[in-house]
Amino acid sequence: MLRKVFLVLLTITTFVHATTVRHFEHKDFYRVVIQPNKVVHFSKTASQEAGVVILTLKGKVWGLKKPLNKKFIDSLDVLYKGNRTNLIFNLTDNVKGYRVFALSKPYRIVIDFFKTEKAKKSYIKGKTKQRFEKKVIVIDPGHGGKDTGAIMNGIVEKHMNLYIARKLKAILERDGRFKVYLTRNSDRYVSLYDRTVFAIQKNADLFISIHCNSHTDRRLSGTYIYTLSFRGATSKLARLVAQKENETVLKFVKATSKNRMVNRILAEIAINKTLTGGRKFARILHRRLSGITKVKKVGSANFAVLKTPGIPSVLIEVLYISNRYDARKLKSRWFINNFSKRVYRAIVDYFYRK
Ligand SMILES: [Zn+2]
Repeated sequence: MLRKVFLVLLTITTFVHATTVRHFEHKDFYRVVIQPNKVVHFSKTASQEAGVVILTLKGKVWGLKKPLNKKFIDSLDVLYKGNRTNLIFNLTDNVKGYRVFALSKPYRIVIDFFKTEKAKKSYIKGKTKQRFEKKVIVIDPGHGGKDTGAIMNGIVEKHMNLYIARKLKAILERDGRFKVYLTRNSDRYVSLYDRTVFAIQKNADLFISIHCNSHTDRRLSGTYIYTLSFRGATSKLARLVAQKENETVLKFVKATSKNRMVNRILAEIAINKTLTGGRKFARILHRRLSGITKVKKVGSANFAVLKTPGIPSVLIEVLYISNRYDARKLKSRWFINNFSKRVYRAIVDYFYRK
């Protein structure tokens, strides 16, 4: 009898769970200990220019997102790529070096971040207080100057956008937890590119572009919320990696390493943040705004102002100025006030509600 042998090649993704992630501050270093439920192979790379340490684990490792000490680790990003998990530690300037090693029984991966002399001294003095940092919100009133936007029903879009943006800024500032910037605070023209670069320079945690809709079909009404589309994001990524972008943008996403792999991972993290953060905020915004206006669509688009790598961004088309009823609402002080308050609450939810 002839036996046929079939060879089946399978790529099996290994799923691993990190049972614990511990961290503590030693006199000379800050230690992070990852304990997966089985042995995980790893490799490491670091870029001093970018201020990152990247730990690449084999397999999909879940449960890694844990708050770390802000004194040493600015943020920890997790990027899943095929059968790999990349952990990107963004270092503060209190760290001057690192080492990674494994321990057995039970299996653990240990990362030590070595302190600078200055950080060591402050540890001895017991100055371990964490500083409270305000969230930076950049509000972008659409159009301005020679670019008026639509004009209908006694409303000039550029003025309306600025009016709403200022209202939202005032409400956010009353809270105390936010630092708010407007891309323009007067009736002047600002290019779309300059608006995104502005957000990057201000180190924005969230970018909100305010517009009003208009259409030749005057029956159209309601609110639209847009986030960056995946297609728009990937083309942005391609350009980032090719390093043809403005230096400010590259510095912001830290894609300035000599190591191209590091740059690629960092650019991808930045894009991921814009996509997932933007979508999360859009969902919350939808919920919050639904009580006051009909949100017709939460969608993704390829708008230039949404291409802010690393910054979650949304564009709100508040209402239609071409629609009689919408225009009446826009002219109502009560509506604008209420609308802005709801956007404010969505921002609070986004940052502080776990
Ligand atoms: Zn507009």
